[in-house]
Amino acid sequence: LPAAMSPSEKQKSVGNPVSNTVPAVKATQVHKAFGDLHVLKGIDMEVMPGTVTVILGPSGSGKSTFLRLINQLETLTGGSIEVDGELIGYKHVNRAGEDVLQTLNDKEMARQREKLGMVFQRFNLFPHRTVLQNVMEAPVHVAKVPKKQAREEALKELERVGMGDRANYYPMQLSGGQQQRVAIARALAMKPKIMLFDEPTSALDPELVGEVLAVMRSLADAGMTMIVVTHEIGFAREVADQIVFMDGGVVVEHGGAEIIEHPQEPRFQDFLSHVL
Ligand code: ADP
Ligand code: MG
Repeated sequence: LPAAMSPSEKQKSVGNPVSNTVPAVKATQVHKAFGDLHVLKGIDMEVMPGTVTVILGPSGSGKSTFLRLINQLETLTGGSIEVDGELIGYKHVNRAGEDVLQTLNDKEMARQREKLGMVFQRFNLFPHRTVLQNVMEAPVHVAKVPKKQAREEALKELERVGMGDRANYYPMQLSGGQQQRVAIARALAMKPKIMLFDEPTSALDPELVGEVLAVMRSLADAGMTMIVVTHEIGFAREVADQIVFMDGGVVVEHGGAEIIEHPQEPRFQDFLSHVL
């Protein structure tokens, strides 16, 4: 995918070359196989800070696997991935001619993972804890934030997703859309640099999709770097800086939001004709 910066980015980068030019995520020829099943076959992708990338593609095309590689829930079998300027994994051939997979050690991996927030299709909130306790959990137990501070910050994140008045509810007392907004607040409470969304609205009743997309849109407007796997074409068209269409483990087409209106590749045209 294009590494080129827009003229305005180049302008901005003059005084501060590092922070404006280091991609938030850079995938280079990423491969992933599960045994004989070759799921990703050379994915290149570059996500600049403050931008929204929407990944489209049919079921089984490897979208979730790709997000899971970025979040180090899987290890790659070829290529490399950088997150925030640091290699999190790469496959290379050593001097003895052997294939070597280089990954981070546990401590480095944990530090890298803290930069990433992830929201899944199914709201995986702890059912026996309140909304507030769910959002405070990782800051208190993983990041070791003092409880009082974690509570204040959790309430702020809940306000941000419009759930400030539900802090003492239990997940089962909420609609699916409300639970998913809490899941977003919970991810944000760890102050991630990058948010990964894997079909965050696919499990919701249609009337609840809009409230979750509205929260995601406001996050994008606030400058959050986001990679979103979704079938919500309207969201993609209006919010995405970059669209990537994957099929069969490869990037078939990519570009700005305008490629939804003018798809070039037959497979992308066919996909759009089914989801639009
Ligand atoms: P998508 O998210 O685009 O629907 P996935 O990344 O979930 O696609 O899956 C791509 C392919 O990889 C599917 O054929 C799926 O069955 C397979 N797959 C995903 N995870 C595993 C796994 N842990 N073990 C074996 N096969 C897997
Ligand atoms: Mg998936």
